Amino acid sequence: MAEWTVVRCSGGAFYETKWVPLASFKAIRLGAKRFQRCPVHHKWEMASQVPEEMQTPEVREQAAQHRDSGVI
Ligand SMILES: [Zn+2]
Repeated sequence: MAEWTVVRCSGGAFYETKWVPLASFKAIRLGAKRFQRCPVHHKWEMASQVPEEMQTPEVREQAAQHRDSGVI
């Protein structure tokens, strides 16, 4: 099951994407990364999951404005 996850791209923008959890919660806390098309910069970049404790209201707001299409 994929779920919406807040990620940060290598260009420094936040957005939400469908993230299929392949790893355990422990592994996610170590920082999961994925190469995918950034909906903010419209190019291929590394996306890193943002840990829950790093998700400030500003981060969540910016991410919500840039939710990707969900098409992987
Ligand atoms: Zn980007």
